[in-house]
Amino acid sequence: MVKILNNHNRKNMTGQTFGRLTPIGPTEKREKNGSIIWRCQCLCGNVTEVSQSDLVSGNNVSCGCWKRDLGKNLYLKRRNVDGTCIEALERRALRSDNKTGHTGVSCSDGKYRASITFKGQRYGLGTFANLKDAVSVREWAKEMLHGRFLEEYYRAQAVSLSGGTIVPALEQLLKSVTAQQG
Ligand SMILES: [Zn+2]
Repeated sequence: MVKILNNHNRKNMTGQTFGRLTPIGPTEKREKNGSIIWRCQCLCGNVTEVSQSDLVSGNNVSCGCWKRDLGKNLYLKRRNVDGTCIEALERRALRSDNKTGHTGVSCSDGKYRASITFKGQRYGLGTFANLKDAVSVREWAKEMLHGRFLEEYYRAQAVSLSGGTIVPALEQLLKSVTAQQG
């Protein structure tokens, strides 16, 4: 009777997927409750062994990669939600000279301030809600000061940043630099 039941269940199992797992075939192993332990192919490529009762109940729906991915996503989400200084704090441990890990970008109160030094003079480029924008602005300013003003100006115009457009900052920078040189 038990054997018939197992055979019946086997047929059902091999045609199905359970979360990320697809049963390949039964092993000789059984759980204490008599449940067949199946060799399963996981979507991530791993092969793992999971009991039929765990598969059917949804207790075990991956080789373990699902929980790992979930943890990773939560971690990333948390970093974004908590604001912006987390990355900077993490980097500080590595680079004590620069909180953000990016030259010319500093972090305070969860905001990023970009600046550039040109011929010994420091120029502010504005404050930005996220690190990416501050770094972009700093990059543009750097390129601009290398004589590629028009190219960088138009590139900046095409992109809107969280703090607005960067064009005023670049114009301000050019004006200051020109005034200084003149
Ligand atoms: Zn997996």
